[in-house]
Amino acid sequence: MALSGLDIYKLLPKTNCRQCGFATCLAFAMQLAKKTVAIEKCPFISPEAKSILEAQALPAIKLITLGSQESKFDIGNETVMFRHEEKFRNPAGVGFIIEDGLSDTEIRERLRKINQLKFERVGQQLSVNLVALKQNKDASRYLEAVKLLLDNTTLPMMLMSKDLAALKQAVIISQERKPLLYSAQQENFAQIGALAKEFQLPLVVMAQDIDQLRRLTKELNGLGVNELILDTGIKPLADKIWDLTQLRRQALKRSNRALGYPTLAIVEQTDPYLEAMEAGAYIAKYAGLVLIKGWSSWEVLSILTLRQNIYTDPQKPLQIDPKLYSVGQVNRDSPVLVTTNFSLSYYTVLGEVEASKIPAYILSVDTQGMSVLTAWAAEKFNAEAITKSLETCGVKEVIRHKDLIIPGYVAMISGDLQDQSGFRIIVGPKEAAGIPAFLKKLN
Ligand code: SF4
Repeated sequence: MALSGLDIYKLLPKTNCRQCGFATCLAFAMQLAKKTVAIEKCPFISPEAKSILEAQALPAIKLITLGSQESKFDIGNETVMFRHEEKFRNPAGVGFIIEDGLSDTEIRERLRKINQLKFERVGQQLSVNLVALKQNKDASRYLEAVKLLLDNTTLPMMLMSKDLAALKQAVIISQERKPLLYSAQQENFAQIGALAKEFQLPLVVMAQDIDQLRRLTKELNGLGVNELILDTGIKPLADKIWDLTQLRRQALKRSNRALGYPTLAIVEQTDPYLEAMEAGAYIAKYAGLVLIKGWSSWEVLSILTLRQNIYTDPQKPLQIDPKLYSVGQVNRDSPVLVTTNFSLSYYTVLGEVEASKIPAYILSVDTQGMSVLTAWAAEKFNAEAITKSLETCGVKEVIRHKDLIIPGYVAMISGDLQDQSGFRIIVGPKEAAGIPAFLKKLN
């Protein structure tokens, strides 16, 4: 648990000498607790106190980077149990398990489809993160499959093998990609730990039991292996969620350094709907990396959408620039629809206007990222705000009509808006799904 200002004060010399730039040791302690100053500002702090303070300044859950170069991604460094306490920082990685028993053609085809799993949603690019290659066949087949991965995807790799010799050969040919190794267990941790250390690679530590996991991470730390990911194995959903929650709680609330690493969850479901739901549950609580087998675009999009929502900063709603956007080949007679600058609202309206195939303008009003009804309730999407936006965006200069379409949910502002803006207000549909039919009728 993080030290409070008073806890830190007890570790300081308490001479109030001011050499740190603060009037008192207590004032300095308070700033240390907020992490706004460095410990080194106090030249009189004892080595013991310094090591305690440095240890507590480390992230409770270590940041681990997987992959290399442009395709690498970070997991871990999480600081809260619940998103509303601050935010979740590094989105859980989503990866795919491929087995070496597939034919070359099947592996190539699967990788081709996985490479294509890229989506744009509310202005953000969503993509998958990793491919894990599992060994079921002999060492030579595993190495062939590793080469296929190297040749057919740039995604970060995870090597899953119980054959240490095969794993070492696989590492030698793929070391530039910095593959994640799976997995250190009670019977092999010294050997696989040595391999991870020699090639400076991250390593999954696996034990069914959390106490056993803690003992293993300490052993590996003692061997100089510190880039770890924790796995408690494949379990029923409720048991796995319990483990993931306990690991997060131990790291954050008990400052249990041996468990202060991101976690892995492997989903073993043949039904793609159940697989998507289970993966979603692990992303919500509290996996750092989730592995699935299905690669259907509908399934992966649902998982990535959920991840995007969970990892959005709740204090900073996704928003777009408030301005006048044109959709299609607009002209001076094109209709103008008004919405807010909340990304989800804007992109939902945009999708429906595009679907209508009728060129139109969308005026995105600055509501500080609030949706239509929330912004209206907060008086940020009212006649004054929309009139101001019409003026600052120069709407009158690009059109020659005076019609303005507002969302059906704020029909109550149409009288005021008409008076203040001088536009003729047309009340549009309540739901964006009604926009195509509405625009066609208007045309
Ligand atoms: S330099 Fe150290 S001892 Fe002096 S006031 Fe600051 S914290 Fe206290």
